[in-house]
Formats: sequence, C-alpha cells, structure tokens
Amino acid sequence: MLKKYVYMFSEGNADMKDLLGGKGANLAEMTRIGLPVPPGFTITTEACNLFYKTGEKLSEEVKKEIYTYLEKLEKKTGKFFGNKINPLLVSVRSGAKISMPGMMDTILNLGLNDETVLGLAEKTQNERFAYDSYRRFIQMFGDVVLKIKIYKFENLLEKMKKNNGFEEDTQLTAEHLKELVKQFKKIVKKEIGEDFPQDPKKQLLMAVEAVFSSWNNPRAIAYRKYNEIPNDIGTAVNIQSMVFGNMGNDCGTGVAFTRNPSTGEKKLFGEFLMNAQGEDVVAGIRTPKSIEQLKEISPKLYEQFVKITEILENHYRDMQDIEFTIERSKLYLLQTRTGKRTALAAIRIASDLVHEGLIQKEEALLRIDSKQLDQLLHPTFDTQALKQAKVLAKGLPASPGAASGKVYFSAEKATKVAKNGEKVILVRQETSPEDIEGMYAAQGILTARGGMTSHAAVVARGMGKCCVAGTSTIRVNEQKKEFIVAGKTYYEGEYISLDGSTGKVYLGKIPTVEPSISGYFQEIMQWADDIRRLKVRTNADNPKDAATAVKFGAEGIGLCRTEHMFFNEERIPAVRKMILSKTRQQREKYLAELLPMQKEDFKEIYIQMGERPVTIRLLDPPLHEFLPNQEQEIKTLAQSMEVSFDELKDTIESLKEFNPMLGHRGCRLAITYPEIAVMQTRAIIEAAIEISLEKGWKIKPEIMIPLVGSVKELQNVKKIIVDTIDEILQNKKIDLAYLVGTMIEVPRAALTADEIAKEADFFSFGTNDLTQMTYGFSRDDAGKFLREYEEKEILDQDPFSSIDQIGVGKLVELAVKLGRKEKSNLKIGICGEHGGDPISIAFFHKVGLDYVSCSPYRVPIARLAAAQAKIINK
Ligand code: PEP
Ligand code: MG
Repeated sequence: MLKKYVYMFSEGNADMKDLLGGKGANLAEMTRIGLPVPPGFTITTEACNLFYKTGEKLSEEVKKEIYTYLEKLEKKTGKFFGNKINPLLVSVRSGAKISMPGMMDTILNLGLNDETVLGLAEKTQNERFAYDSYRRFIQMFGDVVLKIKIYKFENLLEKMKKNNGFEEDTQLTAEHLKELVKQFKKIVKKEIGEDFPQDPKKQLLMAVEAVFSSWNNPRAIAYRKYNEIPNDIGTAVNIQSMVFGNMGNDCGTGVAFTRNPSTGEKKLFGEFLMNAQGEDVVAGIRTPKSIEQLKEISPKLYEQFVKITEILENHYRDMQDIEFTIERSKLYLLQTRTGKRTALAAIRIASDLVHEGLIQKEEALLRIDSKQLDQLLHPTFDTQALKQAKVLAKGLPASPGAASGKVYFSAEKATKVAKNGEKVILVRQETSPEDIEGMYAAQGILTARGGMTSHAAVVARGMGKCCVAGTSTIRVNEQKKEFIVAGKTYYEGEYISLDGSTGKVYLGKIPTVEPSISGYFQEIMQWADDIRRLKVRTNADNPKDAATAVKFGAEGIGLCRTEHMFFNEERIPAVRKMILSKTRQQREKYLAELLPMQKEDFKEIYIQMGERPVTIRLLDPPLHEFLPNQEQEIKTLAQSMEVSFDELKDTIESLKEFNPMLGHRGCRLAITYPEIAVMQTRAIIEAAIEISLEKGWKIKPEIMIPLVGSVKELQNVKKIIVDTIDEILQNKKIDLAYLVGTMIEVPRAALTADEIAKEADFFSFGTNDLTQMTYGFSRDDAGKFLREYEEKEILDQDPFSSIDQIGVGKLVELAVKLGRKEKSNLKIGICGEHGGDPISIAFFHKVGLDYVSCSPYRVPIARLAAAQAKIINK
C-alpha cells in the first residue's frame, strides 16, 4: 500500500501529533467531537521529511495526494478552487508537533487570482473586501513564498494612503485597492521576472513548499535550540478553507484562554474584534474588546462560545488557548492548544483540576514545570515593560530573579552607595570572596567571566540573588569604572537591569513585581512531599539561608561550606593570618581567634535547623580565593601579624598555585595542617552540645571531609576528628552521637567507593568537582569554551548545570553500588549544583540516592522534581 501523506481533518485525532503536528491533530480532534471547524486537511510531518530527503521538492506522489484531498475539500465545502463564481479559498499554516509560535510561516486567502477575486466580490457583494483580501494575499505570498522584501509592498500601500490624504487602511476604497493589486503584481514581475502565479493549484504547491522550507529558517532553528526541540521531527502543513472575520459587522475574530493564564483563575479570558482579521487582534492597532463584551453583541454567540470552551476543557482536561472567527454570525474554531501559563497559574490550575475531579494528583504534579517555580520565589520584571526594553547582552542565567540598579564596579563602592539607599548592580570581571559584602548589598550581579558554578553563580544562588555570569560579550574595566558592549561604553552610575532566569542584560530600569506565594503553592508542595522518596536538603552556611531553606521546606543541611563563613570583612583577616602562618604555633594562635566565631555560627545554624540533620564540611578553600592581592591589604595584614611587608608578600607568592582548584585544598589542607580540622571539629561539637543542652534537642552533627581520593586520606583526617571528639566528650563527661562522612568528588574516590565506605558513615557527591575532574574542564575556565561546545553540538548542555549522566553519572552509579555493597544502609546524598536541577534530580532518584541538597531557593523545585521522578519511574 502506498504511504499516506495527507489526512482530512475528519480522519485524524489528538493522538496523532507526531504525524499531523499539534495544530493538525487538535483540528482533527475538534472535528471528531463535532465542534465547528472549517474543513481542511493536513499534509504530514513525514511529507516534510520526505521533502528534505528529495532535495527540498515535493515528490510527485505527495503532489498527487494533495490534489486528491483538494477535490475532497471542494466536495465538502461546495466551493471550487479557481472557480469564478464560487471560489474556494484556503489558509496554509505550519504546525509542528511541539508548538513554535510565530516561528514559521502562514499564508491566508490562497486561491485568489484576477478571476476568483471577481467571484468573491460578487458572492460577498463587497468589492472592497475582495480586493483587500487579494492585495493581502499577494503581499503575504510575495513575502513568504517569493522572498520579496515586504517593505516593497508596504511602501506602496503607504504611498497610496498618503497621496489620498488617508490615515487608515480602512479609508482606501475598492478602486484604490484594485490599483494597489496592479502595483503589487508589477513588483512581483520585476522582482522574480515572472507574473504572479494565477493558477491556484500552483499557488498551493508553492506555498506548501515554502512552509516546509520555513522549518529551517534561522529563527525556527534558534527557537528549537533554545527550547530543546529536535531538528528532525519536521512540520506538518494545514490547508483549511478560509472563514472571514472581516466581511462586515456580523463578523469578527479573537483569541481566548479557558482560564486566566497569568493567575490561573477559572474564568474565561480573551479578546476579540468585530470586522477584523487575526493579525488585527495581535497587532494592537485597534483595541480589542474583552470576551465578555461578546455577550452584548450577541448573547447567543457568547453562550455558544462558553459552551464550546467547556467542552474543550473537559475533553482535554487542561486549560486551552483557542482561536476563533465569526463569519456572518456563525462561530468557527481555528485552533485549540494547551495554553501557556505562568507558574502561579500552573499551580492554581493543576490544583483546581484535581478538585474538579478532572485529573489525579500525580498528573497535576507532572503538569507543573518545576523549573518554572522560580518565578514564584523571586521578583520578576513587569512583562509589558520588558517588551519595550533594550537588550544589551546575554550571559549565563546563573541565578534567577529580576534586578534593576545603577552599575558599580567594586564591592566597596557598591556597599557604600547601597547603604545610602541606592539600588546597585555589581559588575565585575568575576567575583571573589572579597566581593561578598558588595554582592549582599547589590540587587544583582553581572560578571564577564565564569560559568554556572563560578563563585558569583554559587554565592548568588545561595543568597537567592539575581546573577548573570560569564557574559563574554561585555568587556569590564574595573579601574576605569566602565564596561563596553558592542563598541559602546557604559559608565558607573548608569542604570541596567538583569534577568537571572534568561541571562539577559537590559539597558535602563525596568519595574519589578514582587512574588506572591498563594495557598495553592503550599498544597501542591504537600502533594509532592507525600509522593517523593528523595529527601531534600539545602546548601547553607549562615543562619539566614538556613531559615529561608526551612521556610521553603528543606529537611536538613546537606552542605555547610565552612570557608564561606569567613568571607565577610571582619573575618577574612583572621583566616588570612591563619593561612599565611609559617609555624604551627602561629597558626594555632589565629585558629584560636576563629574558634569562637565558628562555634557561634554553628550554634545559630543549629537553632534554625532544630533537630534536622546538618552536614558541616571541613574547610575546603581554593587558596586563591582567600589570598589578599591589594598592596594596602597586605600592608595592614603584615602589621597585625608583626612581619615585614616583603616577607608576607613572599609567603603569598609561595602559596600561589597554577591550578588552585586542583591544588592545596580539601582534605589536603587538614592533612598538612591538622590543627585546622581540630579547631573546626571542636566548634562543631561544642556548639552541638551547648544547643542540645540549652534546647533539650538531640543534635547529631554530620562532619564531612572534602576532596578525598583515597581511603588513607579519609582515615588520616577521620582520626583527627574522632580523637578531638573523644577528648571533648571525655572532658565534659557527656555523650553525643555524630557521623563522619566524606564527599565523593574525586574520580578515584568513586572508583574505590567500597574501600572508602568502610571508613565513612555517609557519602555526599560533590558533582561540581566530580564533573571538573571527570571531564578535565577547569571550573574556573570552562565558561570560556563551553558555549562553543554547545553550539557545535559537542555537548548538549553545560555539564556543570545538568549532570552528564553517561560519564559522570556512571561514576555516581558505580560509587553507589560499591558503597552499598560494603555497607547496605550507607546514607548517600548529593550536594553539587546539580542537586537543584530537575533532570539531574530524576537521575539521582533512579540511581537510589537518599537525598539531594541544593541552594535554599531551589528547595521547592527539588521537592517537586523529586516527586515527578518518582511518578515517572513507577
Ligand atoms: C562539589 O564539588 O560539588 C561541591 C559541592 O563542593 P564545592 O563546590 O564547594 O567544591
Ligand atoms: Mg567540591
């Protein structure tokens, strides 16, 4: 049997999206359930793929089938293609499986020519309408099919209006439009060297070819890349008999959502215009009326429309986005699809649909895009204002949120002006711990260098602060207090705005809207919690973050990076002194200064967390993040350490490393300077004892050793910890349960996880370092080339954002298997940045981890993603 490439709407259904595209399948479904859809047929996505296979030409086989279906359509409508008296006119529209709004081309009024235009005029008793349709058709066909620049037509239209002293298109008479048609045809002849095609069948085939070709136009390709839509699925083409909303005052057209797409409220939401075509509603030249006003024009039509929207919602069991046309007081549906919605709406609709009995809780949870929840947790830009704003550059969407403020290039200045109430955007080449105050003070952070796990990105996410990182098209000159983008210079004090969810940088100030978390959000989260198996913890290193995370539902701390506790101005000198000490004695002196601060911090964190588990990691500082580099800082430090400037400078030099990320950090530090581990253990345990006694709680600290690659490293540091704890407990004659575990973030640790498990009470995967070391991509430098890797399709995505399941993931799986072979109940979590990425979370669920840990603002996302993972893997 010959392959079938064309389907009447009456032959398809909603399940045929692969073949008929989303639009085609839904038109078929609406036809099937008896809704008023203008008849038509769909040319399949397979025909599109064949078109590309055969050198971008329609095969004879497909052409023949199109003619056959055209005849069927003629029969159905009683109108005929190219017929002078009763002409059939059609629209030609693309429709891929996944909707790509506005990305591909559409042609209306096809079938018009010098003769059928007369038939249309006669039949409608409206010559003006007929010629207006004809000139629109030539223009659209000229643009989409013949590739003639559209302004050439528009200029003529403008000239015609001007010559006659008209403001509006509607003032043009039939005679003017007749003349325009003539002029338009002349342009075509001039541009392509041929007459405008008069044969409707030829017009149709050319239009179908053009729509297939538009699958590969640059904006469609870009859209697919951005939305992760495969390139090889092709588009279908829908040929539908025209209905006109612009034939008079008993005609109209509009769009409607069955529920409010921005709030989710169960109320019809839409707009329409009488005597208009589709683009008039969208173009904003005339102000459309709200859908309720249709009631005033025709109560009967309104009632029919409401009924249809109810049928559609019940049928699809989801909010629908509908296009309709009224022709001579008769209602037609031109499209229905699942409506796009904000996170707020998504949550409310999902919840309402469950309560209305239309869907189950599991389905409701799957309907919500977990990443979209971000919108509810950060301020967002006012959508109207955003449309008008000028985009300056695009970087990595490192930490979501929307921020406007004046540009400052140093943390110091940023902090100072922020204290005076100014809104600040901190712009840096890249950030370092010295910038932390400035980052706190700023509304948002923009960096030119660094990736998704750069200092700026990690710290900003922890703070829940908007950050755009690695914006390589801007050149930052911190000395001159300026940045340059596309040859233009921007200075300190100018306003910019950052969208941390898209990575876009805008010029000027854009108003924001504060998030509102409704009761629906709570309800949905509860459903997710009831279902999920993975526990969700947070990465937090101060009481404020801990409290935020608890508010968002964190069940513990999975990673407290103790080095982050020393990032503020008052403490960093003490840490520097400790690092730069030459003797153990000296170091112990400075550690003794740090001990009370650490202990106090831990106490406050315990207080926020109650009896929830808290994993505290021993110091893991890439040293370069702590070394001073400003002359003045070195001078002050030398003075307070009572050494000479030159001597201190030499020490700093001697500590500089070629690759600090693979240098003297992690457990290597505790092995060479055990006194650091002793001080930290003391702070962790003493704080736990004190708060346990004070509150009557049972705090069970979890001490974690970073960057272990061999079991002997673990044994070495563990002994320091255990000995210190034994001594404290003996002295105080008290008992306290605790755990000592390790991060698995060096490939060798994953490969020898069975040996390591013998010594570890728990594992926590540090997937940032594990990715760095498995790929051999430096965390600090990979941002420079990763984007190009993605563009060249060497990588599907940034492996620092979403776990590389094939490679890094294999190490994770292996380590889980080996670890649990040794200790069947070994507790295993993950605390790298991937702990907040929904796709990665699904993977961690599948390989049997016990928990994920992520920044506070991602906790709700992780809760939902964990539930979705469980539902999908049932
Ligand atoms: C990791 O490497 O994944 C991790 C959590 O540790 P850090 O990012 O602090 O190196
Ligand atoms: Mg690490």
